Amino acid sequence: MLSAQCSVLEVVVAKENREMVWLQCTSCSDLNYRTEIKVAGGPQKIEVKKYCKRERSHKLHKVKRK
Ligand SMILES: [Zn+2]
Repeated sequence: MLSAQCSVLEVVVAKENREMVWLQCTSCSDLNYRTEIKVAGGPQKIEVKKYCKRERSHKLHKVKRK
């Protein structure tokens, strides 16, 4: 009984520590991708090389929060 309650609480906490964000092209500022980041312990700095449709090449994308 007690252990079941604990597992439910953990699921809720895990959801709250995640946030849907945009990956924004640093070159043309297009919002090209949606991703999920963990926000526990402060926001993460994520930089990834992704394909940009507008420029038709791979560009560095950074996390853009709402
Ligand atoms: Zn771009």
